[in-house]
Amino acid sequence: MFNLVKGTHDVILSEADKYSYIEQTLIQVAEYFNYKEFRTPIMEYSELFQRSVGDSSDIVRKEMYTFLDKGDRSITLRPELTAGVIRSIVNNKLLALGDIPIKAYYVGPCFRYERPQQGRYRQFNQFGIECVGVVSPYRDVEVISLCYFSLKMLGFKSLKLVINCLGDDESRNNYKEVLRNYFEKHLDSMCGDCKERFKLNVLRILDCKDPADQEIVKNAPKIEDYLTEKSKDNFNKVLKSLDELGIEYEIDRNLVRGLDYYSDVVFEFHYTSSKGINYGALCGGGHYNKLIQEIGGPKDIEGCGFAIGIERIASVMSDDSLFDEIDDSLDCYIMPLDISYQDKALEIATSLRLNGYKSDVNLEGKGLKGMLKKAIKLSSKYALILGEDEIKNNSIVVKDLSKETQESIELDKLIDYLDEKENENHSCSCHHHEE
Ligand code: ATP
Ligand code: MG
Repeated sequence: MFNLVKGTHDVILSEADKYSYIEQTLIQVAEYFNYKEFRTPIMEYSELFQRSVGDSSDIVRKEMYTFLDKGDRSITLRPELTAGVIRSIVNNKLLALGDIPIKAYYVGPCFRYERPQQGRYRQFNQFGIECVGVVSPYRDVEVISLCYFSLKMLGFKSLKLVINCLGDDESRNNYKEVLRNYFEKHLDSMCGDCKERFKLNVLRILDCKDPADQEIVKNAPKIEDYLTEKSKDNFNKVLKSLDELGIEYEIDRNLVRGLDYYSDVVFEFHYTSSKGINYGALCGGGHYNKLIQEIGGPKDIEGCGFAIGIERIASVMSDDSLFDEIDDSLDCYIMPLDISYQDKALEIATSLRLNGYKSDVNLEGKGLKGMLKKAIKLSSKYALILGEDEIKNNSIVVKDLSKETQESIELDKLIDYLDEKENENHSCSCHHHEE
């Protein structure tokens, strides 16, 4: 017997279905926002992450899977996907002036050497997007709203956007100076991590989870007093636009996020279930001014993105019964009453599927009664009965299982008939085959 590597997990059977469902929903929303898929390597040179995620981040300091390959090159299994996606955009010279913004989405495994615990793994999956070539604060709003719509599509009802502005370089440099002066006086009583954060990136102290340190953070100077006019103006535009879109938010002046590359807008979406359970952050993201340049791209190109943890989403959705609300019913279950009608049944199923009706065929027999039972078990909307008469006059009996009515329909008119019934059922145009 071989055990799983510590911190990894198998995603199999119905759990795998859940992951596919989540990923497909996220991809669909991203594509509606005109994002294109990027698949980058799982291994990158370690320096990429040191430069981008940043030497002061927990990820680079203690969570990376880094090793020397046989050619003595330092390789790292990606702890996140932003750096690789930006690298690929830069390497492939996609940033010609007329081509921006580049809108990329990604999905795949990440690796972090963390202490494994409930919902926290050493190999986990992220979905995310990067918009590179951001020249308007409304692009940041578009990214935030994409994130919001994605979570809504998955069934999360009461979401809270937690947002902050970290300012541009000038704002942040002024603020860091003031913060350093403030924390210097308290440093002796603060935790070991904070002593290190003080040296590497003082902003990171705002993120400390130690209760005693949080008391000290409470009275620290606030970033909003050090923002430049431009940063302040951009942030206000973002907030106003969020108001107009009806996305509720809360400003948290201590939200800094765990990666060094963020500037200006940073955000997280938090979720509290209808039962009142607070699940905390489902995802996080923000704007970055210098990352593209840092990775070797042109100066002055900015970006914005976010990442969602698939494991986190799946566990919250399971816990809050959100998968139960997914409609996985069938449209048509075709029931040939004799083995010799099976080929005809398959032909009908094919035509139904090509017209957007999710269909299945009974090829196992067991008589009309047994087949009807199966149709109900599969929660099919319609049972389509193919008996001797129907074969003779090229028709089929369509039984509406919710209304318990049935009609004999000529095969030529089957699709039209079903389309019409669907239109009657809900006069909204949301049925999936009307794309
Ligand atoms: P956290 O504060 O939970 O450690 P983070 O700030 O490190 O999160 P990001 O790097 O922004 O997270 O990654 C985005 C998302 O990826 C998180 O919101 C979370 O859902 C997920 N995630 C991060 N680390 C792990 C992990 N070790 N296992 C599973 N999911 C994770
Ligand atoms: Mg983390």
